[in-house]
Amino acid sequence: MRPKYVVGNWKQNGSLAGNQALLKAVLAGVAAAPGRHCAVCVPFPYLDQAESLLKGSAIAWGCQDVSRFDKGAYTGDVSGGMVAEFGARYAIVGHSERRTVFGDTDAIVVEKFAAAKRSGLTPIFCVGETLAERESGVMEKVLAAQVDSLLEKHGAASLEGAVLAYEPVWAIGTGRTATAAQANEAQAFIRQRIAAKDAGVAKGLAILYGGSVKGSNAAELFAMPDVDGGLIGGASLVAEDFVAIWRAAGAAR
Ligand code: PEP
Repeated sequence: MRPKYVVGNWKQNGSLAGNQALLKAVLAGVAAAPGRHCAVCVPFPYLDQAESLLKGSAIAWGCQDVSRFDKGAYTGDVSGGMVAEFGARYAIVGHSERRTVFGDTDAIVVEKFAAAKRSGLTPIFCVGETLAERESGVMEKVLAAQVDSLLEKHGAASLEGAVLAYEPVWAIGTGRTATAAQANEAQAFIRQRIAAKDAGVAKGLAILYGGSVKGSNAAELFAMPDVDGGLIGGASLVAEDFVAIWRAAGAAR
């Protein structure tokens, strides 16, 4: 049985005082549990704070994007190596907000994936279709292209030890969650796509669902066979909600 993951994506939210209160409350509700992983992906300036508050706890930390370059004249970029120096474990790459607002193409996302791995970080590789794509019947085509961009450049073996997140764009931050059946259908498709290249990697790969996960819908989503936990945006900013999702991941095991 694959482990379940509950990973918070704080996006561009937080303050030193607010983070401290939030993490204190989350720490009170999250203890180490076999077969479950918890993490928060924080804005870069808060990595130091995350390390000092979370070190030695059951909660890992990470960042929400990473440069595709290791070092050099890339003003404004932050390398995986810099992030790793703060004890971070995860790096989200290819989040739909990076793709749509900041122009990250499939080619850039797969470079960021490789850069995260080179730095010893675990990439959380995000894919997902827009509402227009789903409604016009090209969801599988879109997901296949996003997954294939990685498989073609780095091979299926590159996903060993990595995490993938299916995040339908229409469900992110909208309050509109995919049904458990919709999430599982898309995630089973993704897993099969990878299995066609490497069945062993596909079988062991954690595929998370992201898109308006809440305490009230997490258990049903996480009970699905191809849903190995969640990437949580809005609800990761409210300790009570995030802890409820963590508990749901335990109940789903
Ligand atoms: C996300 O940002 O990855 C996300 C899933 O956001 P939300 O949970 O708010 O929809």
